[in-house]
Amino acid sequence: MRVAGGARTFTAPMSQPKEIPLMEKIVSMCKRRGFIFQSSDIYGGINGFWDYGPLGAELKRNLRDTWWRAMMREREDVVGLDASIIMHPAVWKASGHVDTFSDMMRECTVTNKRIRADHVEPQSGKVFLFEGAACPGKWVGDFAVVLLQKNGEHTDSVRKRAKDFYIQRVNAMCGAEKASLTDEVQLNERTETVANSVDFHPESGGLLTIAKPFNLMLKTFLGATATEADTAYLRPETAQAIFAQFKNVVDSSRVKVPFGIGQIGKAFRNEVTPRNFTFRSREFEQMELEFFIPPDEAVRLIHGHVAEWSEDADLSTPQPDWGWDLWHRYWVAQRTAYYAGIGLGAEVLAYHWQKPEELAHYARACVDILYKFPFGTEELEGIAARGDFDLTQHQKHSGKPLEVFDEELRAAVAKLTDEQKRDFNAEVQEQWNDRNKSREEAAVFCERLLKGFYVPHVIEPSAGLDRLALAVIANAFTEVEKTDAKGNKEVLTVMRFHPRIAPVKVGVFPLLKNKPELVAKARAVFETLRRQLACFYDEGGSIGKRYARQDEAGTPFCVTIDFDTIGENGPELLDTVTLRHRDDGRQERVKIGDLPGLLLPQVQ
Ligand code: ATP
Repeated sequence: MRVAGGARTFTAPMSQPKEIPLMEKIVSMCKRRGFIFQSSDIYGGINGFWDYGPLGAELKRNLRDTWWRAMMREREDVVGLDASIIMHPAVWKASGHVDTFSDMMRECTVTNKRIRADHVEPQSGKVFLFEGAACPGKWVGDFAVVLLQKNGEHTDSVRKRAKDFYIQRVNAMCGAEKASLTDEVQLNERTETVANSVDFHPESGGLLTIAKPFNLMLKTFLGATATEADTAYLRPETAQAIFAQFKNVVDSSRVKVPFGIGQIGKAFRNEVTPRNFTFRSREFEQMELEFFIPPDEAVRLIHGHVAEWSEDADLSTPQPDWGWDLWHRYWVAQRTAYYAGIGLGAEVLAYHWQKPEELAHYARACVDILYKFPFGTEELEGIAARGDFDLTQHQKHSGKPLEVFDEELRAAVAKLTDEQKRDFNAEVQEQWNDRNKSREEAAVFCERLLKGFYVPHVIEPSAGLDRLALAVIANAFTEVEKTDAKGNKEVLTVMRFHPRIAPVKVGVFPLLKNKPELVAKARAVFETLRRQLACFYDEGGSIGKRYARQDEAGTPFCVTIDFDTIGENGPELLDTVTLRHRDDGRQERVKIGDLPGLLLPQVQ
C-alpha cells in the first residue's frame, strides 16, 4: 500500500557544494562496501534483480534468523515450512492469482512507457494536441500526439518534443527504406487546459491509454515440449504453499488451532516498474506467517462470548476467548515489538489501517506497517485478517477437506439444547447475510460447526526480507565529520546497525602487524571468538583506519590486542584487551575471558 511521504536528505555538518540525495549515497555505499550489487553488473545489470555481497549476505541471513527465531523458535504455537518455488498451476488458479493478480497499467501513447494506474499523480496545465502531421511530398499522419506542457517548459520545446516523437514513431512504422521523416514535418496544433488530470504520463506528459490489467506472475514451462499446457509459475508469494500443505502439517505435527505455519523464501513478480533500489524488485524474499484461528462463531459457542478490543486491552498474551479482531491486533503488536528489537522503533515506523473500500473482498482488516524510507513512507509488511478465504478456495479446487475437528467445540455443542442450536443457526444466518453471504452458506457452515468442524480463519503477517534489509540499511546510515591528525576534515560513514543484525559483530586487531607476539595473541583471540560470533580479523593500516572500516561495515565492537595484553606493562593487564564501542567511540579494558559473556547477550 503506497503512502506518499517527503524525501529525506542528509544535511552534512560542513558546507558542501552540492548536496547528494541520501538514497544515492546509500546505493553507492552498498556497492562500495559489498552490501548490494546490481545483478549481472558486468553486463550492465538487469532491471529489478539484485545480488547481496559479503556484508549484505550476512545482514540478510541475520534478519532471516531474527524473524525465524521470533516467529518460530521462541513460540510453541508456530511451526515452519520450506516449500518449492514452483507448484501445481492449480494452486494459483484456486488462490485467484491467475485471474486477478494484476496491476492496472496505463501506457503512454507517445513513448509506450507503462505506468501503474494508481501511480499517476494529478497534473494541471496546458495540453497540446498535434495532429494531421504532414511531411511535404512524403507522408500525411493520421494519428495525434497529445502532450501536457511540463512545468516551466517553453512552448517551442513542447512543439519540438511532439515533432521528435512524431518523426520517431513514423520512421519506426514505415520501416528502414521509408525511414526518412525529418524536421520538415509540419503539425497542426490545438491547445486546451486541464486541471488535476491523471491522464498524462508524469515524465513525458504524453496522453495515457485507459487502464488494462497486467498479470504479475512470471511464467515458465515444464518439460521439453514447452507448450502453453506446460505452463507453470514462479510463486508470486510464499503464503499459498502454506495453505496447500495445511493438511499435511496438521496431520504430521501435534499442532492445534490456534497455531501458525511460517515460511521464508523467494517470490517473483513481474513488476512493471521496479524502483527505489531493492524496494520493488522482480525477485525478492518474503517472510510470511499464516496464523490459523477458530472462526468467531466457534469461540462464541465455546466461551459464550467473543472478547472485544478496547484501548486498554492487554495484547501481550493470547486469550482463549479472542476473536479475529484481537488476534489481528495482537499480531500487529508482536510485529511492532519485533521491529523495535532490531532497531526500527516507533519513530521510523507508521501504520496504515486500510479503509473498507481498500480491502480485498474477503478480508476483514489489513494493516500495513510502513517504514520512513528516504524516498517516502512505504510498506514493509502487511498484516491481514483474511477470514477462511484461502483454505476454503483450496478445499473447493482440490476437493480435499481442509477442516479441522475441535474437541472443545464438540464438547460445548454437546451441552446445547435443540432450541439453542436453532437460535444459534438463525443468528449466524442473519449475521452472514449482513456480510453479503448467503443463508445457504451459513446453514452449511453451522451444520459442520455444530458437529465440531470448521475451516480455520487466518491472520497473515507478511513481510519482505529485502525491504527490511533496505530499511535497516537506510536506518543505520549515518555520516560523521572527523578531523584527522593533520587537521583535515573528512566525512565518514558509520552504519549503526543494531548489534543483533550487524553483519560482523567484532573486529579483532593486533596493534601492530610486525610484532609476532601481538599477531599471535590477536589470532588466538580471533579463533576463540569466531566460534561464537561473526568476527573479522584485520591487521592492515592504522588502528584509526581499521576502526573506520569497521564503522562503515556496521561492526558494533572492536577488540585491540596491544602490549598490555601480552604483559609488557605489568602482570595486572596481562590478557586484557581494549574493547571499543562503535556508536559512542567508548573504549574499555576487559579480560579476554570476559569477552564472550559481555558480547554474546548484546548480539543475540
Ligand atoms: P506493494 O503494495 O508494495 O506492491 P503488496 O501489498 O503487493 O506490496 P504483499 O503482496 O502484501 O505486498 O507482499 C508482502 C510483502 O512482500 C510486502 O509488504 C513487501 O515487503 C514484500 N514485497 C511485495 N512485493 C515486493 C517487491 N516487488 N519487491 C520487494 N518486496 C516486495
